[in-house]
Amino acid sequence: MNALEQRFGDPWDEQNPVGYRAIMAADELQTTPAAGERLLSEYGLGAEFVPTELGGRLDRLDRLVTVLRAVCRRDLALTLANASPFIAAVNVWTAGRTDQRHRVAELLLAGERVAALYHELAHGNDLMSADFVARPAADGRLLLTGRKEVIANVQRAAALIVFARTSDAPGQRSHSQLLLDKASTALDPAAYLPRFRTSGLRGVPLSGIDVRDFPVGADAVVGRVGAGLETVLRSFQLTRLVFAGSAIGALDAGLRTALRFARERRLYGRTALDLPMVRATLRDAFVDLLISDCLSTAATRAVHLLPSQVSAYSWATKLLVPKLLMDAMNRLSRILGAHFYIREGRYAIFGKHLRDLPPVVFGHASRAVCQLALLAELPRLARRAWASTVEPPAALFRQDAGLPPLDFTALSVSASGDALLAGLTTSGPPAVRPLLDRFVAESAALRADCLALGPRDVSMAASPAAFALTTRYATLLAASAALNMWRHSTDPFLHDPAWLEAALRRLGNGIGLDLPGPTGSTHERITTELIDRYDTRRGLDLAAAPIAG
Ligand SMILES: Cc1cc2nc3c(=O)[nH]c(=O)nc-3n(C[C@H](O)[C@H](O)[C@H](O)COP(=O)(O)OP(=O)(O)OC[C@H]3O[C@@H](n4cnc5c(N)ncnc54)[C@H](O)[C@@H]3O)c2cc1C
Repeated sequence: MNALEQRFGDPWDEQNPVGYRAIMAADELQTTPAAGERLLSEYGLGAEFVPTELGGRLDRLDRLVTVLRAVCRRDLALTLANASPFIAAVNVWTAGRTDQRHRVAELLLAGERVAALYHELAHGNDLMSADFVARPAADGRLLLTGRKEVIANVQRAAALIVFARTSDAPGQRSHSQLLLDKASTALDPAAYLPRFRTSGLRGVPLSGIDVRDFPVGADAVVGRVGAGLETVLRSFQLTRLVFAGSAIGALDAGLRTALRFARERRLYGRTALDLPMVRATLRDAFVDLLISDCLSTAATRAVHLLPSQVSAYSWATKLLVPKLLMDAMNRLSRILGAHFYIREGRYAIFGKHLRDLPPVVFGHASRAVCQLALLAELPRLARRAWASTVEPPAALFRQDAGLPPLDFTALSVSASGDALLAGLTTSGPPAVRPLLDRFVAESAALRADCLALGPRDVSMAASPAAFALTTRYATLLAASAALNMWRHSTDPFLHDPAWLEAALRRLGNGIGLDLPGPTGSTHERITTELIDRYDTRRGLDLAAAPIAG
């Protein structure tokens, strides 16, 4: 069991100060459990966000996902309240000066928070329209004017990373990022906006700032003046992957809760788990969780192994994984019926996870933004990359394989190759070959459709049909990831074709593929694995590692 999971202890223990009962009680008070905050501080969560060369523990991105997945399994609010500094810090690791990198590392290692101020309610995802401005003053300093809203931890953070307009000229070089260290540039308390109240994640302190001509030194700029958006495009590749992959922990918890309920609930003289529809809902959610982890794991490991290809994988992961998680949670809620809606009792935690999950879907780049960004990449990938048959390295899928160091400078703003799609071949177990034939044909059809796209099709004027290409692409990447996980796994369940067949069917049905053959012969194998993992307290993801409950 990993160290964090061990510290968290049994979530079902009503006396556990970081158990589900305490988490629900804190949520009612619109806060996070104090014991959870203390636990993460003592564990030194901040060190997980700091590269090893700066004294932290960040050497592998998939390891960070594992750590945060344990926090998400417990409480998404606790996760955002404590992990959002990673969003700010990655920009400094990617583009900051040495002194800025050391200062942010020092703060995080000391358990301080750094807030990420990118969005403005007036402009949403349209970062290029952000009008929080940093204008040069006569004395060489910068004067900040504007509002940033719905920002996690802004008041209690020791430093802020602010995305600000530094030029009135149109185009992608009009914004920069600034590091505001409150030790030298504390904001007036009146500059903070009142707390925003939200439907979910109610424990996260969300506020904002409103400043007029607030002076900061010109040396606050992170990286080159005007490179703010380019830095975002590089560094958010990592944060999208980390948060989508970590959120799989919420479905793990939801599925576990629904299974617990189905076993305990007696209806018509038997348990709800004996009802075929209930079993099917649980099984489908388990398969969707595995699919999510296949794509997430391959894309996250690609940051080390294929960094110049990650841009497309990161958009695709953010597009597909949160939707799979949210849809699965919505279906599972029907198993709990009234019990998911009631904010008290043994199963109330399910409703909290369900309320907390939507920002994982729409926040930090909405679905439409992911689709539009991906759409812009597809014609080039179709022309240059998809004809290649160079298969992805086995280490992309083997979680026990070592990884090259994390190199923030190796990320590129658009993908220059696509080994993961090349890994989608017909060489799978005999039971799924007819399905793989359809997927490979779909891959060729997607290429033809992408080659036919004109400039208008990939612009803001893109049609719903063009948007649909991105869902097809992300689905094919997930299919390749699942196939290759099966191929390279030595785990008896994961190397059994049962889950792979179910995964390919669910993925194919999701994009309307006409799949051959009967379905359902291997279902019990999957349900048995789900129940066995629950009984033996193992995670429901690919690692199936021991957990506290
Ligand atoms: C709990 C929570 C915590 C947050 N924490 C932070 C934080 O710490 N720091 C921070 O900077 N922000 C934070 N935010 C803000 C948030 O991430 C952004 O406001 C949000 O991602 C973008 O704004 P929006 O949802 O209003 O969407 P909008 O961009 O206004 O989107 C509106 C609609 O238009 C669609 N759309 C947008 N762009 C396109 C496009 N190009 N093509 C087609 N359709 C499009 C969207 O999909 C959506 O349907 C937080 C928000 C929440 C809820």
